[in-house]
Amino acid sequence: MLELYNTLTREKSALVSHEKGRFSIYTCGPTVYRDAHIGNLRSYLMADWIRRTLLLLGNEVTHIKNITDVGHMRQEVLEQGEDKVIAAAIAEGKTPAQIAEFYTRRFLDDEAAINILPANEFPKATDHVEEMVEIIESLLTSSLAYEVEGNIYFDVNAFPTYGNLSGNIHESQLHEAVRVEADPLKKDPRDFTLWKKAEAGRSLKWASPWGYGFPGWHIECSAMSIKYLGRNIDVHTGGVDNIFPHHEGEIAQSEGYTGRPVVSHWVHGQHLLADGVKMAKSSGNAFIVSDLLDRGIDPLAFRYLCMTARYRTRINFTFTSLKACETALNKLRRQYVRFNNAKALNNNDEKIDEWNKRLLDRVCEDLDMPGLLDGVWRLVESSDIDDYGKAVVMSKMDQLMGLGLDSTTNMYDLPEIIVSKSEDRAALRAASEYDGSDQIRNEIEAAGYIVEDSREYSVIRSKDPSEIREEKWKTISSSAEVSSNICEKSVFPITVGVVVTGFPEDTRRCVSSVIKWTESDDTEILILDNGSSDSTGEMLEELSAQHNNLKVIHADHTLGDGAAKNILLKLASGEIFILLDPSVEIKGNFVDRIEELLKSPEVGIAGLAGLRTKDLLHFHDGEGESGRMDAMQGYCFAIRRQDVARVGLMRESFRYYRNLDLDFSFQFKEKGFSIIADHTLPMELHEHRGWTALSEGERDELSKKNYGRFLKKWRNRTDLLISTT
Ligand code: AMP
Ligand code: ZN
Repeated sequence: MLELYNTLTREKSALVSHEKGRFSIYTCGPTVYRDAHIGNLRSYLMADWIRRTLLLLGNEVTHIKNITDVGHMRQEVLEQGEDKVIAAAIAEGKTPAQIAEFYTRRFLDDEAAINILPANEFPKATDHVEEMVEIIESLLTSSLAYEVEGNIYFDVNAFPTYGNLSGNIHESQLHEAVRVEADPLKKDPRDFTLWKKAEAGRSLKWASPWGYGFPGWHIECSAMSIKYLGRNIDVHTGGVDNIFPHHEGEIAQSEGYTGRPVVSHWVHGQHLLADGVKMAKSSGNAFIVSDLLDRGIDPLAFRYLCMTARYRTRINFTFTSLKACETALNKLRRQYVRFNNAKALNNNDEKIDEWNKRLLDRVCEDLDMPGLLDGVWRLVESSDIDDYGKAVVMSKMDQLMGLGLDSTTNMYDLPEIIVSKSEDRAALRAASEYDGSDQIRNEIEAAGYIVEDSREYSVIRSKDPSEIREEKWKTISSSAEVSSNICEKSVFPITVGVVVTGFPEDTRRCVSSVIKWTESDDTEILILDNGSSDSTGEMLEELSAQHNNLKVIHADHTLGDGAAKNILLKLASGEIFILLDPSVEIKGNFVDRIEELLKSPEVGIAGLAGLRTKDLLHFHDGEGESGRMDAMQGYCFAIRRQDVARVGLMRESFRYYRNLDLDFSFQFKEKGFSIIADHTLPMELHEHRGWTALSEGERDELSKKNYGRFLKKWRNRTDLLISTT
């Protein structure tokens, strides 16, 4: 029996089905006006493991996952302002239905890529408005809902157990938990919308007894769960953010409609975090499956990663841990293939049953996937069962894990020529002729194969895709991996640093102009390829092959801007460090003038374009102006490297570039340095992709967050402004 924590009872208990040997599971599915991010997928993986465990325990399972193509979608779009994707689709003349269909298909592909078993049905909200209307009518009849001007609200005061699931029982907590603006038509702000009257000009609307309108978000899950699974649903899953208000609302609606409890077991998965906060598109820290694919990372490594923590524990996602999981998964695959190639030595059946039971028991204890993983690795190392027996157990357990071990290609299946070399080598080794055997080993490795010698065995295998990928160039995953040279002696007079995120043409224009206008003997050029997935990385490698003084560092994903720039600061070895934005094209000798400006020790920052302010609230572009400034804009930002030891590195909480330049400028001002702009520096500014690649809504949000960070630290430091000194 599978025991799971039930959010409603707040304790662990065994899942019990209403019908013997048949379980029903309902999972809140994706909102399809954008891609599901890997945080969403973590929630679906949890449901998949519950389902697979029930199957392995010998049950039948019916699994329903809804597609939210109205309601939630609208609510979010309305709350968060314009969405880039929806805006683009509308600009292309697409309908909401086409957008929904597009992202539904992508979602199904993403689920398939991480081996999530497809649900038995994926009902769409827009196909079930009739069922929703029926429930709403019944709630009106039993006075659990009321109508105001064509809107229908659920009356939470008429449903005494409202709040039981989330524990938001006190009125004040509920008030706080209701995020949306108070609707003046509601009797109580906690009441939630079941049906909303269509505003003039709205295209997505349905006829109802209360006129044209559209359903709220929660009602869709009551309607579809009851329609497809009946009035007794064994398991309902979602992420913890679904508990309130979504599932609280669903319970009120479904129970209000049927007159009794509908769902037996509520299971909620904890979040996937990135940079310590919940992964969400609106936080700018979301990754999607194609981000992994674009970087050549096996999406099943993400499945493995999610197995390394229990579902009730948060996971902080990093590319470093993802790649470590990819390595572990590949190792597991190799062991599996090796065991599978072995012959059964003796009758293993008893041992096999014992191992299967031991492993399955672990999972049954509150879905202990890390325990299962640990058990599988113990099995790999175990000496109490022969290799073939191990393969049998692993294959069985993989019905639960879903790592696709059985579809691993045989890395030990080698071409004739390598097989014959390997035989020659084995013969030489047996005769202790190590010089000869080493030479053959070199030949085999030069042909691109890996030789693994251990005490027990010696094998040759082909490389796995991650090994081939890492051969291309080494990548880094965080700024913490790079140690700082800030206190080391300078080697060059000048370091020019550029962070690029793709856009090979912009990158080439900027970097070539730097090469053209600097002396290779005096200047070190450092480029951080910040997670580009177009041809930028290759182009930079080519440039670096032609120019000894140009070094490229590749990040395996897009690091935050503060972190990216710090990597360059830490690696630089020039006396003067000049940070350039890739939108800059150098048009003449800029280095001499910068050196001149930085000659005076009280000048901390020199650059092209400064900013002035009187109050820290309004910054004026010192357009066309030169002289002392309150801050330097990030286009060209030149400093003496040794000063960074006093001033500190940039703040890495600035993930987006905007206002990071202000913040870093103030770090200099705080230490008594002044900032000098020279608008005659020979530089041309082209389209600035950090700005134009984002939609207006995204820019605003990210800029605002950074400005908040800036103000929080510097708000009281008007004493640092030039107007006051
Ligand atoms: P949505 O498309 O926003 O309705 O979310 C789909 C599912 O993903 C819901 O069950 C959410 O609870 C879940 N979810 C959202 N963000 C995360 C996250 N960062 N980690 C894990 N699950 C999440
Ligand atoms: Zn739902």
